[in-house]
Amino acid sequence: MGKTLSVNSGSSSLKWQLFQMPEETVIAKGIFERIGQEQSTMKVEFAGEKHSNEQKIIDVQQCVLLLLDTLIHYGLINDFREITGVGHRVVAGGELFKASVIVDEKVLGEIKELARLAPLHNLANPAGIEAFMKLLPQALPVAVFDTAFHSTMSEKAFLYPIPKKYYDEYSIRKYGAHGTSHYYVSQLAAEMLNRPIDELKLVSAHIGNGASITAIDGGTSVDTSMGLTPLAGVMMGTRSGDIDPSVIQYLIENVAHLNNAAAVLDELNNKSGILGISGLTSDMRDLNDARASGDKNAQLAYDMFIDRLKKYIAQYIGLLNGIDALIFTAGIGENDEAVRQDIIEGLSWFGMEISPELNIRGANGIISTAQSKVKVLVIPTNEELVIAREVETFRQLWFNQTFSKGIA
Ligand code: AMP
Repeated sequence: MGKTLSVNSGSSSLKWQLFQMPEETVIAKGIFERIGQEQSTMKVEFAGEKHSNEQKIIDVQQCVLLLLDTLIHYGLINDFREITGVGHRVVAGGELFKASVIVDEKVLGEIKELARLAPLHNLANPAGIEAFMKLLPQALPVAVFDTAFHSTMSEKAFLYPIPKKYYDEYSIRKYGAHGTSHYYVSQLAAEMLNRPIDELKLVSAHIGNGASITAIDGGTSVDTSMGLTPLAGVMMGTRSGDIDPSVIQYLIENVAHLNNAAAVLDELNNKSGILGISGLTSDMRDLNDARASGDKNAQLAYDMFIDRLKKYIAQYIGLLNGIDALIFTAGIGENDEAVRQDIIEGLSWFGMEISPELNIRGANGIISTAQSKVKVLVIPTNEELVIAREVETFRQLWFNQTFSKGIA
């Protein structure tokens, strides 16, 4: 019994959910954005109420304090000690972390060390973890890695075809991301299809602002579209996805304001993808509005986005030599029926057919027709719940060990 916080701390934001465990009920959730800027925002939701506030938040330490005070203020907890565990989403686990882990000083140091693989996220992650450890010393801190689910990839899948010494000496390889989400939806898909996961071949399409496609065989990740960092793979809201690496050198040598690798990488991470092609927005809803009003570049961005998704999905259907089901999840995958329709229409040769009625209804479940060879599902992802469950597993283990020692 206890309350568990699931935390996702980014470079300037902190997203959280408070769960009552083991019941898995959501007590409250919220997000802090623009931390460290002039005007930070705070949003909190619980029991049908929504509150938002603006104030300057200097750093993550102040943010965590504000979060805890907010929980007290709204009567969601009476005492900090009611929070018995905090689970943290960590983007890069490298080769060191193949499963979730209880955080101590050593683990924290290792997470910081791995920051070079995902500098944007991994520097922010340990700062968040440290702040919670300081302010909630009684709560069990657990790190849940976005890469862990992909640690089952074989060498032939995770190696880049470059001299192998760069893997042997520098660990340069594909690590993937969104692992918690791909894991969660693949498990639920097996339940919905009423078949054991170890019999199933699945492709999971996590399509949000960041997007990745994963090939899953018997419940394990065999390949995924993101790479050493979350920049690789399909086209995304602001990220290019795969491009010819020679473009980088060409930009450095020919574009004045992009005269170094960091500037080009910033362009590819933050100004490319849907935003870069449309010149308008990285957000699918805004892109759809612009398309509806006849904006040509918005339409081009959409068409490129769909084609790149189709190509990765088809590639993984080939890699798995056929699939039982395709899963759509995340902001766009869960909510945009036109994206789903256009992808499936383009892949109908593989024996996929969706019911227009079920597709429009979306929600949670199978949207393919009865005769479709490949089942198509929409499954809302819930990374926060997986994180809370991981914390709960460690808490139970810890409790059982302590208890058995006590009576021995
Ligand atoms: P995520 O990163 O998973 O939060 O997803 C964010 C993306 O989902 C943004 O591009 C949103 O525009 C998109 N999105 C959210 N709701 C909808 C919706 N109802 N229709 C289309 N796109 C949506």
